[in-house]
Amino acid sequence: MNRTLKFFNTLTKEKEVFKPIVDGHIGMYVCGPTVYSDVHLGNCRTFVSFDMIYRYLLFLGYKVRYVRNITDVGHLEGDVDTGAEDKISKKARLEQLEPMEIAQRYTNGFHEMMRKFNTLDPSIEPRATGHIPEQIKMVERILENGYGYEVNGSVYFDTLKLSKDTGLYGQLSGRIIEDLMVETRDDLKNQSEKRHASDFAIWIKADDSHIMKWESPWSVGFPGWHLECSAMSTKYLGEHFDIHGGGGDLVFPHHENEIAQNFGACKCTPANFWLHGNMLLLNGKKMSKSDGNSITPVQLFTGDSPHISKGYNPMTLRFFMLQSHFRSTLDLTDNALLAAEKGYNRLMEAWQKLQLLEGKATTESDLDKEIAQTIEAAFQDMDDDFNTPKAMARLFDLAGKINSINDGHVSADAISQSAVKQMQQFFHDMISEIFGLIETGDASSNDGVVDGLMQLIIDLRQKARANKDFATSDQIRDALQEVNIQLKDSKEGTNWVKA
Ligand code: AMP
Ligand code: ZN
Repeated sequence: MNRTLKFFNTLTKEKEVFKPIVDGHIGMYVCGPTVYSDVHLGNCRTFVSFDMIYRYLLFLGYKVRYVRNITDVGHLEGDVDTGAEDKISKKARLEQLEPMEIAQRYTNGFHEMMRKFNTLDPSIEPRATGHIPEQIKMVERILENGYGYEVNGSVYFDTLKLSKDTGLYGQLSGRIIEDLMVETRDDLKNQSEKRHASDFAIWIKADDSHIMKWESPWSVGFPGWHLECSAMSTKYLGEHFDIHGGGGDLVFPHHENEIAQNFGACKCTPANFWLHGNMLLLNGKKMSKSDGNSITPVQLFTGDSPHISKGYNPMTLRFFMLQSHFRSTLDLTDNALLAAEKGYNRLMEAWQKLQLLEGKATTESDLDKEIAQTIEAAFQDMDDDFNTPKAMARLFDLAGKINSINDGHVSADAISQSAVKQMQQFFHDMISEIFGLIETGDASSNDGVVDGLMQLIIDLRQKARANKDFATSDQIRDALQEVNIQLKDSKEGTNWVKA
C-alpha cells in the first residue's frame, strides 16, 4: 500500500497519482452486462481488465468494495424519442418468456463465463430491477434541484441547465454542449418531449405494450438506462467514491449522463477517477454479430468458428488479453492466439522449472541483483496505469534466466537460494494473484502425457473410421464428450479441446 499508483483518468485526460478518499479503502464501480443475450468476448475483455485492476488493488492491501451491476431493465435499443424497445423486454417477447427468465438465464451464463476466465466475484452485484425505489428517489432529487422536468408522465434531464450552471456536461467525453444539441437535433422527432436535443430521459412513461413497468409519482413507467448506475453506485459507495470503470464505448452517453444525474441529485460528481478499457477487435475490425465478424467465447473454446484453426483454453485468452494494455485496442486473430498459447505455455513451464531450481551462490551475486531489479521494475509497471504487457515482459525476462540455469548455460553457482525464493514468490504473486492465470488444465503442465494419450485415442479413432468401424469411432467421440473433450476434424487432421 506504500506504493504510488498512477492511472490515466478519462475525466482529466491525464495520468494522475491515485489517492483514495479514505486511506486504505477503495470504492470501485464497474458497469456490468446487459443480460439479454450471451455475453460476448468484448464484454469478457472489459471484465477481465477490471478483474486485473481489482486484483492488483487487493494485492497492494487495499480494502476494495467492488460493485458491478447487472442491467436487467432500461437499456433501450435506439433512442427513447424514436419509439425504442427495452432490450430484455424485446427478447422476452420474442422468446415468449418472462423478462426475469431472460435476465436470469443470461446472468447465469455470464457468471459461468466469468468463472471460466477466473475472475473474482465483485463484492456487490446489484440489479437495476432491485433498485427501482432508489432510482425514483434520485429522479425526485433531480427534480427538486431543478435539473429535471416532467412532460406527460416522463421525466427528462435538463443538460443545458447543468451546462450553464457548472460547465460539467460534456467534460468526460470531451463534447461541447452546443455541438451535441446540433448533432442530435436530426434524431429528434417533432413530437419529442425534450426541451433540448441533448437532454435524456430519466423516467419513461410506459405504453400498454410495455412489459416491465413500475408505479412512480409521474406515471407507470421505467427508469432511463443511465439512472441505475447513478442510483446503485450512490447506494453502495456513497455520493463520492474513488473509481468508476467500464468499456470505452460507455463514455458517451452513459457515463456522461451518470455524472450529470449524480450532480443533479447530490450536487457533486460521483467518482474521482474514471477508467475505461478499450475495445476488442476481430481480424482488425470491430466485432459485430450482424456482419459475421464475431466469435462467441464458447466457439473460441471449442474451435467451432471459421475465424480460428482450433480451440483455445480460457487461460490462453486471459493471457492474450493481459499481453496488451487495457486502454489499447486488442485485435484477436488466429495467429495472435497461437502465439499467445505458446507464450503462456512457455511461461508456465519456466514457473515449473523454477519450483525445482536450487541456487548455490553463498553471497548476493550480480544475477541476484538483476533479478531483484526486474521484480521491482515489474511492480513499477503495474503502478504505472496497470501496464500488464510490460510486467509480462519482465516475467519472460526472468523465464529466460530460469531456462538458462536449467539448461546449464548459466551455473547454479551464479544465483543464491534467496533470489530463487524471491522469484518463486514473484511468479506466484504476478501470475496467479494479479494476472489471475491458473496453472492447471493446461497441456503443458502434464509434460505432454495428456497430449500423448490424446494422440493415441485420436489415432485409434482414425483407424476405426478407416476400417468403417463407425460404432467404435462414435463410441470414442461420445466417451470423450462425457468428459468435456471435443474432437474437431479438419483437412489438417483432428484436434482436441477441453470445453
Ligand atoms: P453491455 O452488455 O453491452 O452493456 O456491455 C458490458 C460491458 O462490456 C461494458 O463495459 C462495455 O463497454 C463492454 N464492451 C462492449 N463491447 C465491447 C468490446 N467489443 N470490447 C470491449 N468491451 C466491450
Ligand atoms: Zn453503467
